[in-house]
Amino acid sequence: MKIGIVDADLLGRKKHRFPNLACEKISSYYKQEGHDTKLVLDYNELYEYDKVFISKVFTDTAIPAFLQESDAMHLGGTGFFFDKAPNLPEDIEHQMPDYHLYDQWIKNEVRKKQSLCKHKGKTFNEKYFMQQFKEYTDYSIGFLTRGCFRKCQFCVNQKYNQVFLHSPLKEFLDESRKKICLLDDNFLGIGFQERKRMLQELLDSGKRFKFKQGLDERLLDDEICKILFSSRYDGDITFAFDNIEDYDIIHDKLKIITKHKNRKSVKFYVLVGFRSTDAEDIENAFKRIELLFQYGCLPYIMRFQNKNETPWMQSKYRGLYITLARWCNQPSIVKKMSFRDFCEANQALHKNPNTLCSSMDAMLQFEKEYPRIAKRYFDIRF
Ligand code: SF4
Repeated sequence: MKIGIVDADLLGRKKHRFPNLACEKISSYYKQEGHDTKLVLDYNELYEYDKVFISKVFTDTAIPAFLQESDAMHLGGTGFFFDKAPNLPEDIEHQMPDYHLYDQWIKNEVRKKQSLCKHKGKTFNEKYFMQQFKEYTDYSIGFLTRGCFRKCQFCVNQKYNQVFLHSPLKEFLDESRKKICLLDDNFLGIGFQERKRMLQELLDSGKRFKFKQGLDERLLDDEICKILFSSRYDGDITFAFDNIEDYDIIHDKLKIITKHKNRKSVKFYVLVGFRSTDAEDIENAFKRIELLFQYGCLPYIMRFQNKNETPWMQSKYRGLYITLARWCNQPSIVKKMSFRDFCEANQALHKNPNTLCSSMDAMLQFEKEYPRIAKRYFDIRF
């Protein structure tokens, strides 16, 4: 059989660069059964295949209207079914992913860029260009655990009441790949002994590893911090600071982190625009940012959105949310500039000096309405 596999996010999102693990497992399963599998890059070619699997992670990824579940066409993933997305069948779920599913697409992208550079008389820097594909080429990807017990209202993980073991590392570890990327929902939520054992396994692999989702810092303790911060972690160690109500507990955990952090870079996702999109929400964001700055941790603003709504976009403070994210989410900037400095720097680069740039405008309008909040937070520094 000819099996067509569509990563809908790759086709529908311009800058999407992360392999779809379900697609890779489906490909691997059908290859093992003796079928031909191929990553399909054009919806008009679907008719060429005996069976088609289409997977989508993001709800707002656009897809053609004619896609419909049938005997020959299977749709799956949170992008189609949100928190009701059915699991893959067990024997597919526990396949070693086909890490080569995207190879031909990557080759084509390289070829296209090469000829574009040639056409424009520019030098093609392949090493630099390949950076964007590193998750496809360098990492073994999988879930050591699945599930979460917290049931945060804004999160798609509502299916389970606990964290449970999912795949042993060897199930998805490709020794030829340099690094490991873990997609666990709440790894630290598994029992202490299991957590320690799996972290030790990761250390023993000798490979750099990272958890793609923010780790649950409310579950940190001295011992876990010691292991995490002494490991060859890949990139920033990332946690989440979603609720202002967790301020005190996060404060306590930051003290533990500081003991072990050394010079490692620590980042916290800061969720905004969920409960409200008003001045209180913005003040809460700054209050969390200020605490993180005090402990040398980087904030990363996550603007809430779900399959139906993007509340911050409808907010009166839309411009402020954008500016806040632009300031925080660029480490080289947030480390050097206060929020006010950042807006002033934008204004200095603005084409027409007689008008306000959008950042400056958003900041001044908010400051006029809420001078107390502006005075308290707009000049804080990392
Ligand atoms: S702790 Fe994380 S994974 Fe668990 S429900 Fe909350 S956001 Fe989702």
